[in-house]
Amino acid sequence: MVKQLGKSLIVLTAVFLVLVSVLSFSESREKPEPISLNNLAQKIVAGEISEVVVDYNVLEVLSRDAKTFVASKEADADFVSLMRNYGVPAEALQAVDLEVKDNTTKELVIGAITTIILPLLLLAGLMFMLTRRAVGNANQAFSFGRANIHLFTNFKDRITFKDVAGAKEAKQELEEVVDFLKNPKKFLDLGAKIPRGVLLMGPPGSGKTLLARAVAGEAGVPFFHISASEFVEMFVGVGASRTRDAFQTAKKASPSILFIDEIDAVGRERGAGLGGGHDEREQTLNQILVEMDGFDRDTNVIVLAATNRPDILDSALLRPGRFDRRIVLDLPDISEREEILRLHAKEKPVGPDIDFRKIAVRTPGFSGADLANVMNEAAILAARNNKKTIDQQNVYDSIEKVLLGPERRSKIVSDKEKRVTAFHEAGHALVSVGVKNSDPVHKVSIVSRGRAGGYTLKLPTEDQRLKTKEQFLADLAVLLAGFVAEKQVFGDVSTGASSDLKTASEISRKLVTRFGMSDKLGPIVFGDTEELIFLGREISAEKNYSEKVAALIDDEVKEFVLRAKKAAEKILKTNTKALTKIAEALLKEETIEQEAFYRLVKPFNLKPISV
Ligand code: ADP
Ligand code: MG
Ligand code: ZN
Repeated sequence: MVKQLGKSLIVLTAVFLVLVSVLSFSESREKPEPISLNNLAQKIVAGEISEVVVDYNVLEVLSRDAKTFVASKEADADFVSLMRNYGVPAEALQAVDLEVKDNTTKELVIGAITTIILPLLLLAGLMFMLTRRAVGNANQAFSFGRANIHLFTNFKDRITFKDVAGAKEAKQELEEVVDFLKNPKKFLDLGAKIPRGVLLMGPPGSGKTLLARAVAGEAGVPFFHISASEFVEMFVGVGASRTRDAFQTAKKASPSILFIDEIDAVGRERGAGLGGGHDEREQTLNQILVEMDGFDRDTNVIVLAATNRPDILDSALLRPGRFDRRIVLDLPDISEREEILRLHAKEKPVGPDIDFRKIAVRTPGFSGADLANVMNEAAILAARNNKKTIDQQNVYDSIEKVLLGPERRSKIVSDKEKRVTAFHEAGHALVSVGVKNSDPVHKVSIVSRGRAGGYTLKLPTEDQRLKTKEQFLADLAVLLAGFVAEKQVFGDVSTGASSDLKTASEISRKLVTRFGMSDKLGPIVFGDTEELIFLGREISAEKNYSEKVAALIDDEVKEFVLRAKKAAEKILKTNTKALTKIAEALLKEETIEQEAFYRLVKPFNLKPISV
């Protein structure tokens, strides 16, 4: 709105300026030479001037040798007194032919334009725009019940399954769906039921939307795309009628696919209290259910939906006949990551030293979107260094950037803070060498990054689907090592360890309540955590145990953390020299890479202990 207004203002002002300049330059003349009033006065005294025409604030001057000059004066200054003030004697002035043009009409016109017509024009423009908007709004209000549904027609940059790396099972299932729409008879003849709804579930960035678009590209049938958040708008009841509209449109075009992205926006568990009991959402959800149930046996419409919150979806959505096919998109494993990286490197010039496998090794837990981002950042880095191709180091640097946020070298840190950070990070790094079952250190640094003051990057050598208790305990010890090192060296602790401690407590609680790794409490899962693990975060674990057990859990959580702390203390106490050496190296170099780090600790010959 503001932008539009601004634009029309500019246009109006431009019109005004053009008008004024046309008026003032309507009488064309040869280009006179500009002179100053002072100069003009001198020329008049010298008797060189034959004629002066006063045209409002412009003085057109004709000299005796037929040259023209132009000077300007203040609009309200009277020319004769002006010249007298410049010391021109009356006789000299009398020798000049003075003509004062009657400017009243012109002034009137200009005055009228500036004071009456222009504001009127502006007002008219404003009114015009406002009424247009109002009409637009009214139209919108009338069309509120229509879904803002997008028919996929963009075949130019069409995406197909080839553009989705990995996700084999998901692709297979979806291929089936596509096949079904293309030859329904083949399936119906065998008595197979038409799948109604397919739900794509997976963490953010795992390629759900991408895959749906690939289905569109493959399908060869109309593909309608809507984001669930578009269903719900200001007015109550809109969601339901939009839903109806969307389904109707899809049905009319049958066989067709209707894709509802981010369905969790409307499909939340009804009455769950999360985000309030939003009536509008419930009605929309009900309408979706009604529509899906209303499909005839031979309606060839398949509803595809995507969500990264399957845990909060209303169970009614998941019943047979609705979204009964569910496709889980996991984070890619190592070879899938390699494939995704290759795909995203296709249109980028990569150097000969690029090793996609190695990059994949360094990126466990990255989603497809993260990997796309890594390759993009690497290209930006290479461009910034004025290189023609992307090399391996660019990619490594961009991995860290994606992982930890950009380096903030410019951040000013006091020497004391630097020392604390150095010992803190040295603590993490040393303990990961001193404890059994820890992942190797990739890099230690005291360059501040994102929100972290420094960081120790430790990566598993291979993808882990399973993790053992010993590994978790090793992680805990490494996490606490920063805190322990600070305390040991400075006799005090800083806030720098807060996020370490938070992570440690969370891990420890999971060990006890989720993974049954506490000997005291046994192999029991506490709290209703169905499908929450999938998201890696806890939203509202229902408490299904007594207060007594709750206290026991707290004890055990604490026990694990303390045990890890003790191990870290032991390692750091018995290896103070190594700790100091690493910290000093960090203060000097700021960043130590894997090989250099292991060279540094090798002479100390640490014997890894278990936690
Ligand atoms: P989601 O909808 O699951 O949050 P998107 O489908 O929007 O994720 O994925 C975001 C981007 O990540 C895609 O545009 C694509 O560039 C990249 N991406 C994700 N998964 C893959 C994959 N399997 N293959 C190739 N690129 C992928
Ligand atoms: Mg998406
Ligand atoms: Zn730390």
